[in-house]
Formats: sequence, C-alpha cells, structure tokens
Amino acid sequence: MTEQSTIADGMVVTVHYTLKNEEGDLLDTSEGDEPLTYLHGAENIVPGLEKELTGHNVGDKLQAKIAPGDGYGERSGPEPQAIPRARFPEDAELEAGMQILATGQSGETYPLWIVGVDEQGVLIDHNHPLAGVTLCFDVEIVEVRSATDEEKQHGHPHGPDGHHHH
Ligand code: ZN
Repeated sequence: MTEQSTIADGMVVTVHYTLKNEEGDLLDTSEGDEPLTYLHGAENIVPGLEKELTGHNVGDKLQAKIAPGDGYGERSGPEPQAIPRARFPEDAELEAGMQILATGQSGETYPLWIVGVDEQGVLIDHNHPLAGVTLCFDVEIVEVRSATDEEKQHGHPHGPDGHHHH
C-alpha cells in the first residue's frame, strides 16, 4: 500500500499560509510560527480554501483568491454596538480582535467579536472580523496523512501526542 499524499476528504493536512486582503495588507501568517493542521472535509477551514486545496499534493504551493461568500461570509445585520465596560467582568482582558461567546435568551451561545475598546465601552460586532473580505492566500502544503478513525469521529486533527482539546 502506498501512503496517499493527495488532499481529499478524511486527510489531515498541514500547511504554511499567508493571508492578505485584496489591497495586499497582511492579515495573518503561519510563517515563523507553527504551521496549520486541519482535517480536510470537516469544515475546519473556510470552504473556499478547502475547495482550492482538494487534489493538491505535499510540496505544492498555490495561491487562492476567495470571495467573502466562500470565506467568512458577507457582512450582515446591525453595525457594531458599544457595550459599557461595566457589563464585562472586571478582570476580563478585552482587546480588539478577540472573540467572545454571548448567551442568548434561550441559553444558546453565539460568537461576537470585539472590534475596539475605549472610554465609551467595548465595541462589539456579530460579524467575523474577516466577513466581507476577499481572502488572498499563499499556501504551501507541508504534510498530508490519513486521519485516524478517532480524528474523523471528532471532526478535527489530534496532535502527535494524541489529544489536545481546547
Ligand atoms: Zn478530538
């Protein structure tokens, strides 16, 4: 049996990536840091990037330009809203870019993002910070392996030492 190294559903894929917007501003990169490892076909990464990576092999480098609809979605709903700082726990560290979980009236949780903090309070947006942004990825595929049954069950990859859940 030859070890499969082509990206398909059920493969654990490790990539180095750099993400910019259409203007060329750097948004995120794994360079100088740990590469990103994800389970292909399990919605661990944005759908547009998953689509672009399908069928590629270890060592491939590619560029992918992904419209918001295949990325973090279009912006929608109300504009960001300022919440008084006093509504948050006193010792909570609040800074722009952080994701927080809010609890709705029927106990369901949903993500919100902090877009700014000032004397007025904490500016909260229910859109992902990259919603409405065209994503320009530079990707290098570092490793591809078959997922274990446990990883497939969980819908995410496990590290070399087994489990590390967040
Ligand atoms: Zn797990």
